[in-house]
Amino acid sequence: MNQFQATRTIDSARLLEGLNPPQAEAVTQTEGATLVLAGAGSGKTRVLVHRIAWLMETQGVSPYGILAVTFTNKAAGEMRGRIASLLDVDVRGLWVGTFHGIAHRLLRQHWQEANLPQDFQIIDSDDQKRIIKRLLKDQQIDATSLTPASLQGYINARKDEGLRPANIDPGSDPIAARLRELYDAYEAICRRGGLVDFAELLLRSNELWLQQPQVLSHYRERFRHLLVDEFQDTNTLQYAWLRNLAGDRATLFVVGDDDQAIYGWRGARVENILRFDKDFAPVTTVRLEQNYRSTNTILSAANALISHNAERLGKNLWSDQGDGDPIALYAAYNEVEEARYVVEAIERWMAAGNRRDQAAILYRSNAQSRAFEEALMQRRIPYRVYGGTRFFERAEIKDALAYLRLTANPADDASFERVVNLPTRGIGARTVENLRAHARARQLSLHDAALDQLASGELSGRAANAVRGFLELLDTMRRQTADHLLPDRIERTIQLSGLTDHYAKEPHEKGQARIENLQELITAGSYFTPEEEVEGSLGELNAFLAHAALEAGEEQGDAWDDCVQLMTLHSAKGLEFDLVFLCGLEEGLFPHQRSVEEPGRLQEERRLAYVGMTRARQFLYLCYAESRRLHGDVIYGTPSRFVAEVPAEHIQEVRPRAGNGLETTRRPSGSRPTGGRSDNRTAKPRSPVPQQVEGGLFVGQRVQHEKFGEGVVLGVEGDGARQRIQVNFAAAGAKWLMAAYANLRPI
Ligand code: ATP
Ligand code: MG
Repeated sequence: MNQFQATRTIDSARLLEGLNPPQAEAVTQTEGATLVLAGAGSGKTRVLVHRIAWLMETQGVSPYGILAVTFTNKAAGEMRGRIASLLDVDVRGLWVGTFHGIAHRLLRQHWQEANLPQDFQIIDSDDQKRIIKRLLKDQQIDATSLTPASLQGYINARKDEGLRPANIDPGSDPIAARLRELYDAYEAICRRGGLVDFAELLLRSNELWLQQPQVLSHYRERFRHLLVDEFQDTNTLQYAWLRNLAGDRATLFVVGDDDQAIYGWRGARVENILRFDKDFAPVTTVRLEQNYRSTNTILSAANALISHNAERLGKNLWSDQGDGDPIALYAAYNEVEEARYVVEAIERWMAAGNRRDQAAILYRSNAQSRAFEEALMQRRIPYRVYGGTRFFERAEIKDALAYLRLTANPADDASFERVVNLPTRGIGARTVENLRAHARARQLSLHDAALDQLASGELSGRAANAVRGFLELLDTMRRQTADHLLPDRIERTIQLSGLTDHYAKEPHEKGQARIENLQELITAGSYFTPEEEVEGSLGELNAFLAHAALEAGEEQGDAWDDCVQLMTLHSAKGLEFDLVFLCGLEEGLFPHQRSVEEPGRLQEERRLAYVGMTRARQFLYLCYAESRRLHGDVIYGTPSRFVAEVPAEHIQEVRPRAGNGLETTRRPSGSRPTGGRSDNRTAKPRSPVPQQVEGGLFVGQRVQHEKFGEGVVLGVEGDGARQRIQVNFAAAGAKWLMAAYANLRPI
């Protein structure tokens, strides 16, 4: 054996360390396709990561030849990190990302073949809805006959099935024909503005495979190894895309769990697991049965729950983590008391020396986060809400991005409409309405329609001045920012836009929070590093705008250090925590009302409960409230059927304790007020204790800021790149700034 072989053997052994025999078998498959079909916490994601490392380390596969699909960008980042730490190699050539992210990369590189403008813009679902709303209004369709949301759902579902308007046969159904027409009109708008929505990313890149054989054969040649995590949640188009890319040469490696299929409502098809066997034969199916995550109690409870589903591939899961504590079941009076109970339990747990970020509060619907946020804020416990309104989805951020987009692409009608009169500059609804009609009639963008109207004198008087002012502003922005680095470019654009002054007029805290967010956008720009391929074809600003749009569509965001984690059950997929609270277990809320009548959807809800329970490593709490204020109504619920489906032997009911503000005897439901709430909804982590500021500053220190002048450091929160620092400026008052960007000079 030569030295080279010896090294390889050792590395192979090291890579297989910490894997059980079936896991190792999966990792080292060399023949045909592999399907790892296994329950929660059995190491599927771990196997996938080790497989990539194993391919590179022992099979001589170049990172360049591997493409791995994950559920979120965050998961992709973690996967890269784990591979890099396993191998200590450069993983830059490796393509790891979501289907959307990967499709985006492809389209950036092949914009011409994909028939897109080079600087096409990605729109998130919020932008898409605006466009659709406008379209319906233009066509004088009133919302009672067709809502923007249902047309949006229709269009996205068709795209997810791979269908263009031309592929849809409405037969003699006038409604189907109308929907098809609207889909067509929507496409025309996107084409004119160079806009690409999420579903379009994938549809376009699949069409790229089908219509550009040379591109397809290039990637078939390149990606000999395709790996997919959370395979049970792929939709028809994603499956077709994979199949096209794989051809008959690539080796596929997919991992999934039919019991965790939770995106059927969005077009995911768990049947893809069954098709896989036929479409990619020969397939080796590996089953993993040992769960490494949870205690036996949690696992048995979850297994019992999911056994109530009829259509399952079936599996046995066991754990050798011991029985652990029973699952706690808590019946609260209402959502306020539920939150109080949960937060007190977290406090006790933290007092025992545990990390906050190992505690997660999970719920069915975003609106439930509010009561928890309030309770956490009262106790000054830092927390982080995943999903909900993400940074890049906040109104003020989208306003600033709209200006940035217009500097990159004046034809972006959605952005034009968003800010044409924001801040107010005297461009009224009538003027915009006329512009729109003009644009429609001449097939122009709104921007060009405005130029046209000004040139022809069709616009006059005050309206003309206002529109001219807006166009000049865009022009100035473009000229004054073009040669600057991204953060300067963002800062300058925000300054010129007048957004800061506009928000300063809002009631104090709200406006201040918005202005802070705008500053954070500048910071986001300063930390942004685009993927090489994307930047190459785009330039920094457009790459950043694409990143912002893609991020806005994510289910999970960056983790903030040491904060209690709040998220919907959907967002919790793939994650794990020591302590988990599954809240709002009430009929009508979870399972969701809409699913109760339909067996298929009810089963999907049950899988969601299974996903939730199996996130817990050591402690699991199930909570429900006897009454709940949600969306403005008070609902009196009964406990979810899912609670009854967990065997009683695993459950310990928690009684409200005396002396802690809770009551031992119950009043009849309904006689108790539901407790007030304020409107303060900030989702930022709030650190109770000021810490050391990075860069040698300390609380109480006098500092100098370029714009705000002299001030004193009042406090700090967070650390690293996200550290924020509060300074009381003599002239400008107290402000929160991003420490990394504030450029504070000690004096
Ligand atoms: P999910 O279905 O929730 O996505 P999964 O099957 O992908 O779960 P992983 O997240 O890969 O499971 O693994 C669950 C936990 O068990 C992780 O903390 C992982 O590091 C650990 N684990 C997996 N396999 C082993 C092993 N052989 N030895 C020790 N720990 C393991
Ligand atoms: Mg996983």
